[in-house]
Amino acid sequence: MKIKRNKITHKNKLRRNLLSVRIALITIISSIASIIAIEFGYILTQSIIRDYDEILDVDYEDSELMNDVMSKINKHEAIIFHHMVEQDPHERRKILNEEEDMEIRLQETMSSFEQNVRGTQYESGYHDLFSQVTNYLKNVQMVIDLSRDGNEQTANYYMRSVLAPIVRDMDELISEMENTLRRDVEDTKVKIRDNVGMMRIFVRIVLFILIVAAVFNVIYCVKISDEMVSCDMLTGVANFDNLIRVGEKLGKKRRLELYSGLAISIKDFKFINQEYGSSIGDRVLKEYATALNDKLKRNEIVARNGGDNFVALLEKDHVDDFLKSIMKVPVSLGEKMGLTLTSRCGIYQITESDTIYDVINAGVIAVGETRQSGANDFIWFRRERRDEMVRQKDILNGYHKAIDEEEFVVYYQPKVNLKTRTLCGCEALVRWIRNGELVPPNSFIPVLENDGKVQELDFYVFDRVCRDIGDWQRRGIQPVRVSSNFSKLHLHNKNFVDDVLSVVERYGADPYYLETELTESSGYEDLDAMKFFVSEMREAGIHTSMDDFGTGYSSLSLLRDIDMDVIKLDRTFLRDENDAKEEKMVENIVKMIHDLDRHVICEGVETEEQVEFLKRVGCTMAQGFLFDRPLTKEEFEKRLINPYYSS
Ligand code: C2E
Ligand code: MG
Ligand code: MG
Repeated sequence: MKIKRNKITHKNKLRRNLLSVRIALITIISSIASIIAIEFGYILTQSIIRDYDEILDVDYEDSELMNDVMSKINKHEAIIFHHMVEQDPHERRKILNEEEDMEIRLQETMSSFEQNVRGTQYESGYHDLFSQVTNYLKNVQMVIDLSRDGNEQTANYYMRSVLAPIVRDMDELISEMENTLRRDVEDTKVKIRDNVGMMRIFVRIVLFILIVAAVFNVIYCVKISDEMVSCDMLTGVANFDNLIRVGEKLGKKRRLELYSGLAISIKDFKFINQEYGSSIGDRVLKEYATALNDKLKRNEIVARNGGDNFVALLEKDHVDDFLKSIMKVPVSLGEKMGLTLTSRCGIYQITESDTIYDVINAGVIAVGETRQSGANDFIWFRRERRDEMVRQKDILNGYHKAIDEEEFVVYYQPKVNLKTRTLCGCEALVRWIRNGELVPPNSFIPVLENDGKVQELDFYVFDRVCRDIGDWQRRGIQPVRVSSNFSKLHLHNKNFVDDVLSVVERYGADPYYLETELTESSGYEDLDAMKFFVSEMREAGIHTSMDDFGTGYSSLSLLRDIDMDVIKLDRTFLRDENDAKEEKMVENIVKMIHDLDRHVICEGVETEEQVEFLKRVGCTMAQGFLFDRPLTKEEFEKRLINPYYSS
């Protein structure tokens, strides 16, 4: 899969500017094209209207004039007829006078007609007609004159042989011109249709071009804005969402395992920001990001994950070279200033079952580890380590809900007097009922201890213990001494003693039935605090015990310095109960504890042989699966009521 990476900032800026220019250009071109289309349409329409007007004008005028001319000619014929028929001289004169007037008007009409058609395509046609009319009028005049002079016969002859053919010719000419006009009107109609069609095509083409341009522009805008959305605006490399998208795609194609996930950060970037200010800091980030980006292969990606944190997906065989190249990254801070940056990096070998989120978690945890003092700048992280980290995170995330919803439950594991095989005490052990499953403390106590949350949990358990003791007493059940585990972390708390006592007071619990277990300290740093705690507990009548005795390095000195009531031998003392040397050693340890006036109990007893061994070495108290596993409160109550163990 080809990974689409973002260009570095200045390129993106350039693209953004180009996009603006493009949008502006397309808008301007669209507007101009629209205006041209409209103008073109307008001009075309105007010319068509003009053409049409011309035809209509001429046609109109023409029909008016022709009617005029024809009516006059008809009138002439009538006059001439009258003139021929009417022999009354008075009547004849009247007609002749009228005739002269009419002739003058006809001349006038013709000259205005001539003006009207001048310069048009009809000029020559009308010219012929006019000359015919003129010719006709001239001959009419002649007929009139002949008639006036009394040459009736000649006038008659003229009328028939000269005037009649002229009238016929004129009729033909007029009908020919009418045909021409009709044809012209038809032609114009066709022209209009053609022009309108052309205009439509032109406007359609322009609109089509505009739509295509707009569509391309939208696609381009979407593409660019998509890239901008997926790019980190400060540095120009991909942003975190983009990397997630790429990772998910690779995951779907089952190609993610071909990559390694890297979480990268600039070493001591905080100081660069403090020393040079945030604008220089930003510049450093940009240059650093550019340097990372430039070192990528075609199918790789680096994204900024806020601050100076980057996450990258690199092909597995490219990781070593990439790491070498980012060991020292020179950046310039101006003309003369420059810095050489070093990097921290957590590298995670992606496996088949990893999602991009697993990869990022692992990388971030790994780079976090590089920050611990003395750690390497580059830390390789494997799946198991990541799983453990994820598990720990899960525990911490679920812890508060577990406290609020009382998912933690106290179990009690009996302690047994080996001589009498009766119940002589118990240890409170916490369990986490998580989603219906019972989670053993070893899987979450160390995590909570690392995070400091265990202190709250210890008091949660101690609280339930005090409450349960009171409850048993109220119900007439004889309790036994209950030991509660307390983390060594409490020793750093100045109020530890007060906190313990305030719980005891809250429930009015009898201190006789209480015991606090502290794990054997591995160092001397807690010695004074431990001493103080033990003496305060003694003062309050509460027993103290040293848990897991024999597992630390300073057991004997602790035994000397800290005056605890009970020493709990770790189950490692039961390694080989048939070994004579071992037996001697344990026997002496037990004797020493007794000599120091302390009680001793051994935990982890699973067999009768171990019981025999403990009896032989003088240890008379034991705790272990042989007698009971840790029990629920209800199960333990049955033990309190019937405290005997059969042998
Ligand atoms: P621990 O205080 O040494 O508790 C004894 C552990 O040994 C218990 O494991 C118990 O179930 C186990 N055990 C008892 N008898 C036998 C046996 O015969 N064979 C074997 N193999 N194991 C036996 P658990 O309950 O899993 O507790 C483990 C550790 O978790 C405890 O060790 C203790 O350090 C810690 N823990 C338990 N509850 C608390 C608590 O409330 N606060 C603190 N701080 N730690 C606790
Ligand atoms: Mg314990
Ligand atoms: Mg123990």
